[in-house]
Amino acid sequence: MLVNLEINKENLRKNLKKIRSINKNIICVIKDNAYGLGIENILPILLENNCNYFAVAYIDEAVKIREILKNFEKEKKLGFLENKKINIMVLNYIEPKNLKYAVENDVELTIFNFSQLSNYLKILEESFENTVLKIHIKVNSGMNRLGFNESEILELIEIIKKYEINSKNNKLEIISIFSHISDAENQIETEKQVEKYENILKIFDKNNVKYQYKHLQASPLLFKYGEKYNYDFARVGMALYGMEPLSYDVGLFDVITVKSQIINIRNVKKNDKISYGSKGIVKRDSKIGIVSIGYAHGLQKQIENSQEAYVLVNGKKAKIVGEICMDMIFVDLTDINDVEINDEVVIVGSQRNVENGTQKKITLRQVARWVGTIQDDVLTKFSGIKKQ
Ligand SMILES: *Cc1c(COP(=O)(O)O)cnc(C)c1O
Repeated sequence: MLVNLEINKENLRKNLKKIRSINKNIICVIKDNAYGLGIENILPILLENNCNYFAVAYIDEAVKIREILKNFEKEKKLGFLENKKINIMVLNYIEPKNLKYAVENDVELTIFNFSQLSNYLKILEESFENTVLKIHIKVNSGMNRLGFNESEILELIEIIKKYEINSKNNKLEIISIFSHISDAENQIETEKQVEKYENILKIFDKNNVKYQYKHLQASPLLFKYGEKYNYDFARVGMALYGMEPLSYDVGLFDVITVKSQIINIRNVKKNDKISYGSKGIVKRDSKIGIVSIGYAHGLQKQIENSQEAYVLVNGKKAKIVGEICMDMIFVDLTDINDVEINDEVVIVGSQRNVENGTQKKITLRQVARWVGTIQDDVLTKFSGIKKQ
């Protein structure tokens, strides 16, 4: 593949430092294959920087982390890991058939409704003896996605009391009670959600439920309110990878660069058509470059509807023109001198203009605007690109 994605380790480290300057206890969110960047690429960087708590979406991802750690131990690659416990929590749903793996490999699960809890308890009672499942209880503070409502907490506590650690059944160890904020930049909504979360915690406390931690922050809440909602952990994803979590920039460092190459150049006349369909009518005599990236690599087709979208060639803007193809795009090179086949094209990231030494940059946020989506969507779509 001519397309590749580079991960800037040093900038990821700087983002980590920035995050830690607000909350030093973080659960690094590497769900959905580390937002498309590859758990195998991101995990070692985080481990080297002393991260030891990770959140994933699926059991397979927890399996992958445990396997990577085993290999590291075998190869004695990360000596400092030796006495360090690595915690893994799963944020999404785990099918009951995978419970065995979670228990055997010390994977902590999120419990978010009664049917899930009773299915797990049934398996724990039938198939495991003297086994404790580590759980995080998710409560609904207003997003209405996963989590127990305030009105369900007493019923939940009744079940927990029967199974909690050191009770007669001794099946559940509650690691945390947590929630997720849906609209951090809306202060009124956020305060309501925090209040709801606090009220729910009070119910657990009043009933003497034993749990270790509370956590509420994801990247937006952390950067919007600083230490105010620190609790015991921040669960951070997007900020690690350099995506700006708020509508204004908080000064994170760019972690990814997506690059390709020009594979063909041709001259076309005013009013000639380019690419599929008839939308791509050239308005002047033009030099058109064909770049080896398309929607199969995750450059979303909707970007063709933007009048502004461009890539960088020789450190200059080259507009994306015509319809996006599966593995190629058309760019306007008319105003760029000295371009040749095989020249580098930057789709996300920085490139230097050789003539005057200046840097030009395309951010994930910019691409998201052109496509009409959010940065996380742009980034995860690049999951199939080879990483460097
Ligand atoms: C994805 C996710 C996070 C991380 O969110 P970012 O905004 O990427 O930092 C935290 N908590 C939960 C429950 C999530 O699903």
